[in-house]
Order: sequence, then C-alpha cells, then structure tokens
Amino acid sequence: MPLYKTEAIVIRTIKLGEADKIATLFTNELGKVRAVAKGVRRTKSRFGSALEPFTHINTGIFIKGSSSLYRMRDTGIIHSYHKIREDINKIAYGLYLLELVDRFLLEGDVNKGVFAFLKDTLDFLGEREDVKEIFILFGLHFLRLSGYQYKFDRCISCGDDPLIAFFSPHKGGLICNGCIRGEQRGMFPINKAVALYLNSVKNIDGMIIEPANTDIVNEAAEIIKGIFTEIIGRPLLTQEFINEIKG
Ligand SMILES: [Zn+2]
Repeated sequence: MPLYKTEAIVIRTIKLGEADKIATLFTNELGKVRAVAKGVRRTKSRFGSALEPFTHINTGIFIKGSSSLYRMRDTGIIHSYHKIREDINKIAYGLYLLELVDRFLLEGDVNKGVFAFLKDTLDFLGEREDVKEIFILFGLHFLRLSGYQYKFDRCISCGDDPLIAFFSPHKGGLICNGCIRGEQRGMFPINKAVALYLNSVKNIDGMIIEPANTDIVNEAAEIIKGIFTEIIGRPLLTQEFINEIKG
C-alpha cells in the first residue's frame, strides 16, 4: 500500500507496548483510522506532542507487511490548539466534539465535509468565548450532516404550535401535550423559548449567532446533549467531565 500524505485531527491515543501508541485519527484523505506511532513515548521523541487530542497534524499513513493496522510517519503539527488547552471549559466541550465524531463515523468513511467543519469549529473554540453557542451550532449542523432533521416549531404529529411540548430525538422533533399519549420514553420536556431559539439557529451554516439569553443558551445546549445521548443510547463519556467542571 502506498504512503498517504494527509491532514488529520487527533481524536485520542492509547499506549502500546513500551514505547508506542495507537492513535485514533480523523484524517482528511482516509476518514477515521487507527494508526501505530512507533517510538512516540521515548523521551527523545518530538512526535509525542503531535499526538495530543485536538492537534491538527500532517502525517504519512501506510500499512507495513501484512498488518491490519496503519502506521504513521513524517508527522508534523499544523495547529496545536493551545488556546483550547488553556481553558477547562473549552477542553471539555472540545473533547465532547471529538467523541461525537469518533462515535458517529465508521473507520475508513471519508468525509471531507465533516473534517473541514470540525477543523473550523476547533478554530472558533480556540478564539472565542461563547463556547456553548459554538457547541449548539456544531451539534445542529453535525446532526443535519448525519441525516437528522428536526422540527422545533410545530408538533410533528398534529402540526400545532404547542405551548407545552416534549422533544423526541427518535421521532424527529416536538410532540405536543395533546399528542404525547402516555408514551414518554426517550423524550424530554422542552421549554417553548428554547424550542424557538433552536428553530431560529438550526439552519445556520457558519458559526455566527445572535447573542441570546444565557438561560436559553444553557438549556439549548442541554437539549443538544440530550439528543446525542438518545441517539447513541447512553451519555457520552465526556458528558460526565462537563458535568464535573460545572459542579
Ligand atoms: Zn400534537
């Protein structure tokens, strides 16, 4: 197999043997891959800092012999995202985004759109302080790219504009109090103002968002996390980290 030169974002790593690591990378050219970084844990290796989560790198990916795992070589840092690393809240939300990408993408699924979008979002997360707004916009756009189109303005069953509503990630949006009929598993209540806010921002392609009431933004971020929890079937591992730094 040839050597693929590619940009990549480091999602996570695990130790392998005495000196190596296996990195989960989201690459532009090959999608999500796992690749062995040889010798990376030796003290003299400059390769090590390139394998921190978030780091945007250039690397060469290849298969050696009959191995089923990729190897990495000629790795250099394009952007270390040090401004994310300096802020615990940005780290927490950044790790949540990486975990989402890891959970939703299959190995080898090339998705240059998501790659560019993740890279742009990490840029914004580094530079801006409205972390939750960035998270909400990423979440909604990522859901759309993954095929989930939600209705936040009308009951998906009767079409009414409800005063009191529940939100069903599996059914595709709001369900009014009249249509809920006892079955509330996998649903959660949603405040009308929050539904209106999500409806107004759900089709924004970029990361520009009008400032909104803090309570509404906080609750909207919780709704987005609730949607991902329902789709995945349990909370993301980084969800607990976010909860801990809040407390
Ligand atoms: Zn209804």
